[in-house]
Amino acid sequence: MGGTPVLEMLDRVRGEVVTAQSPGYDDARRVYNAMIDRRPLAVVRAVDVADVRIAVTAAAEAGLDVAVRAGGHSVPGFGTVDDGIVIDLSRMKGIRIDPRARVAQVQTGCTWGDLDHAASSFGLATTGGIISTTGVAGLTLGGGIGYLARAHGLSCDNLRSADVVLADGTLVTASDDDHPDLYWALRGGGGNFGVVTSMEFDLHEVDTIYGGPMFFELDAAEDILRTYREWIADAPREMGAFPAFQIAPPLPFIPQERQGEPFVLLVSCFNGPDDVGAKLLRAFRDIADPVAEHVERMPYAGLNSAFDGLLPPGLQHYWKANFVEELTDAAIAAHVEHGPKVPALQSTMHLYPINGAVHDVASDATAFAYRHASFAPVIAGMWPDAASNADNIAWVRDYYEATAPHSEEGGYVNFMADDDRDRVRANYGGNYDRLVEIKRRYDPDNLFHLNQNLLPAAPQAPLRSQRPKEPSAHN
Ligand SMILES: Cc1cc2nc3c(=O)[nH]c(=O)nc-3n(C[C@H](O)[C@H](O)[C@H](O)COP(=O)(O)OP(=O)(O)OC[C@H]3O[C@@H](n4cnc5c(N)ncnc54)[C@H](O)[C@@H]3O)c2cc1C
Repeated sequence: MGGTPVLEMLDRVRGEVVTAQSPGYDDARRVYNAMIDRRPLAVVRAVDVADVRIAVTAAAEAGLDVAVRAGGHSVPGFGTVDDGIVIDLSRMKGIRIDPRARVAQVQTGCTWGDLDHAASSFGLATTGGIISTTGVAGLTLGGGIGYLARAHGLSCDNLRSADVVLADGTLVTASDDDHPDLYWALRGGGGNFGVVTSMEFDLHEVDTIYGGPMFFELDAAEDILRTYREWIADAPREMGAFPAFQIAPPLPFIPQERQGEPFVLLVSCFNGPDDVGAKLLRAFRDIADPVAEHVERMPYAGLNSAFDGLLPPGLQHYWKANFVEELTDAAIAAHVEHGPKVPALQSTMHLYPINGAVHDVASDATAFAYRHASFAPVIAGMWPDAASNADNIAWVRDYYEATAPHSEEGGYVNFMADDDRDRVRANYGGNYDRLVEIKRRYDPDNLFHLNQNLLPAAPQAPLRSQRPKEPSAHN
């Protein structure tokens, strides 16, 4: 393998080591966001914990940057790096469901589709993202917002324990009993602390649900958002629902002549009886008749993958986000001005509710700090053609600037673009100092810095990738 010492160390990997000389290199280095185009020294497709330990140790000894990739959905492209080592976990797909204890043990190459599939065969699920191709690991480590959050908390609130390979190659289990500080930090603190190889989750009874998307004319947008604000504050926790702005895709339930037009949506997921769900949704039907809808009883896993086809890998992505404590009339006015200008079929604004069970957990009980916020909106720019980057990025930025004055300072780390890295302190609010202290203990050299990075050193050290490369003993 090339004669380079770091690659020689990787010879012991049981999975695959893909370098620029390998036939599948372009495929191996690609991430979900097509704007990201980086050339790693090697992509290690790990198949077990031993492979992860070898890769971490080799990269640390050689002084190389390490990118950790699970589902590959990071919008800033944290799952890849120029000239460094990518640890790609996507082949580690083991899942064990214990239906009696209602617990899932999940290897971190799994997507939400993998976990939904395994758990749904027992009528069980846990809070996960609304696109099933997103990685369980990256989403959970940043918090994890989805349809079930009002009933069962964030994904990270359902994380009982995690196996983690630390920067020195040791493997630890973090839970309430073992390494409790690390366990606290992993629940919202992102990929800052090590490579998580396995996660244990609480599961809940979620089989079929009543819900789906409703498309309303844009002139109803203000009423829909105002009604939603009051409605979601009191709705039963079994109701997960969010409003959105979206161009109607070419789907059979949407009249052909309206496809391609922007609408305001309500997307719902009610884990309860049809008649109760229907009665709850009447609040929106009373405002206007939907132009199109696909509300019915369906498997939870079906709803959780319903938008997958719209968002294949290879789109351009640029996202921005802030938490919102109170959705004021002024904030709604900003949404009503900018949402309808959505410029691409795939782009959207989703206004996720994070009340209910998310508020049952204290802000300092896990690293995810914004428990007092009621909403986590995301302005997600996604479009196919790089030639349209300027227009699409401008829509996201204009929309963001209009809503930011009505929002909290911090936003959800998993929705942050690359140009938001200076907001890490704000994103963690009152939990920031404790996180930095834990980072200092578990990753003092900041080996794991390709993330919304907590800098362990004071005064702040430059990122590894900004330091001149030191020749290591092996090179
Ligand atoms: C189409 C789409 C839909 C989304 N929907 C939702 C949603 O509904 N709810 C929500 O909360 N978020 C959502 N997100 C945001 C998502 O949570 C983040 O993009 C998340 O980082 C993706 O995780 P991943 O494993 O797929 O990505 P990756 O790019 O593989 O990982 C992102 C980062 O997470 C860290 N990481 C990942 N795995 C590990 C590991 N095993 N050990 C240590 N660190 C690790 C690393 O820092 C890594 O760089 C969505 C994103 C996209 C693109």
